[in-house]
Amino acid sequence: MKLVQHFLIFCFLFLISYSAAAQPFTQADTLRGSNGPGRDWWDVLHYDITIKPNYLNKTITGTTTIEFKVIKKAGKMQIDLQDSLIIDSINIRISDEHYKISKVKNVNFQKTEGVYFIDTINYVLSTTNWITIYYHGKPHEAVNPPWDGGMVWTKDKNNNPWISTACQDLGASAWYPCKDIQSDEPDHGAALRIIVPDSLVGIGNGRLTEKRSLGDSTTQYSWHVKSPINNYDIVPYIGKYVHFGEIYKGEKGDLDMDYWVLDYNLDKAKKQFKDAARMMKAFEYWFGPYPFYEDGYKLVDAPYLGMENQSAIAYGNQYKMGYDGHDRSESGWGLKWDFIIVHESGHEWFGNNITSKDIADMWIHEAFATYSEVLFTEYYYGKKAADDYCIGLRKIIRNDTPVIGPYGVNKEGSNDMYEKSANMIHTIRQVINNDSVFRKILRGLNHTFYHQTVTTKQIEDYISTESHINFSKVFDQYLRTTQIPVLEYKIKDYTLSYRWTNCVKGFNMPITVNCKGTWPIKPTEQWKTISMYPEGTVNFSIDRNFYIKTKKVE
Ligand SMILES: [Zn+2]
Repeated sequence: MKLVQHFLIFCFLFLISYSAAAQPFTQADTLRGSNGPGRDWWDVLHYDITIKPNYLNKTITGTTTIEFKVIKKAGKMQIDLQDSLIIDSINIRISDEHYKISKVKNVNFQKTEGVYFIDTINYVLSTTNWITIYYHGKPHEAVNPPWDGGMVWTKDKNNNPWISTACQDLGASAWYPCKDIQSDEPDHGAALRIIVPDSLVGIGNGRLTEKRSLGDSTTQYSWHVKSPINNYDIVPYIGKYVHFGEIYKGEKGDLDMDYWVLDYNLDKAKKQFKDAARMMKAFEYWFGPYPFYEDGYKLVDAPYLGMENQSAIAYGNQYKMGYDGHDRSESGWGLKWDFIIVHESGHEWFGNNITSKDIADMWIHEAFATYSEVLFTEYYYGKKAADDYCIGLRKIIRNDTPVIGPYGVNKEGSNDMYEKSANMIHTIRQVINNDSVFRKILRGLNHTFYHQTVTTKQIEDYISTESHINFSKVFDQYLRTTQIPVLEYKIKDYTLSYRWTNCVKGFNMPITVNCKGTWPIKPTEQWKTISMYPEGTVNFSIDRNFYIKTKKVE
């Protein structure tokens, strides 16, 4: 998610990113954004999070147990928890070399540069250990979720409390202690225990494992997600929820598709959420099986537009078609389906199944989720509709800064990671010029990198290898520069001359031109000439599906 909503906000973000680019990054940015010495010796296996929100004073109390494996000699342990929250105590349970687990023991910790460091413990290499953190405080309140996120405290139309979190940019450490970097997902998933007043319902990721009355007018809802999950995808939803669902017959068998909506939205949701099964059918075709059968699929009414919360997608599109009632492509096709159901669910494959290690590479999430909109359109409305939709999105592209951001400092690249990168994929697809190969690549990515975190290089190399076309210059051009390649061409009698300009050195992307029939050409930075005899160059055009600029020179 996180698509900019209005032009003004876009400008605002642009100014922030522009000024940030001029400033050196801080030590805190590096601590947060890199796999540093407080993080690299331990591998998260599981989070067990308990949260009790207090609606009246907008505070939470929580407990998080992190199960982790020691993968190299232990040093101090870095735990991220943002400033507005206070750690009360930390205890550990450690395993010795015989896998005997010691009794609970308290440990000391200090706060530096916005993170907590726990004193070095003599953990045994390769053992599993547990750290439990007790904390409380007033988490940062979301100003404009999901973009300017945090804890969301709101009320539904009937004045019932409606609470959630939206923390993709801010980070999950806005509400629970964790290793707040995308490169380390809990291998065995996460438990989320939500304590709510008896009148409300708590929804989390994965499946409901227990609902228990605590006897003090509160109920604890325990949810468990078995698959690895991004920190920012873990989410409590608290409100006056009701449930309906269906069993979808998918590629891997029966898939539970569950819908949790506010009581007064039930009738609307039963109509609108028909797009969920349509989405599942189209995306299993293009991307392969839904990646989280064991955890099920859920759509949950959310007090903000949307977010790809794994196996519990946040839905806040007001039961309208398009993106809050608009077609971002202005082609008309974007009003045929519910943007949030399609885009956010597309992230289940790209973003949640395959996650970038560093948020600098977030194009991997957003390019393919945006392209999932194109593929959904194609599946139901045909190729021309899909092309129109994809090309229509180009109007939003800014080419302000590169799509890939700086590494190791918790900084994303340009918002062009959505529409520009989707158009890059569309362009690559034209070069491959074989949709069964293209589809095999999309499915292969999800199979090869199943439940993994990846670098951009892994994705780029996979596409080049599997297509037998070296796309490295194409990726460099579109992801690492703001320049759009220009095809310069001359037409003289029956000859066409052409070359690439405004491009990275060695840029050599083949394209297709149309005259009477289609002509594949392989431009480089040097002029080349071909004869188009005897058809001639009448009705000459360049395939619009390539995201390039053209310039006719005399
Ligand atoms: Zn997205």
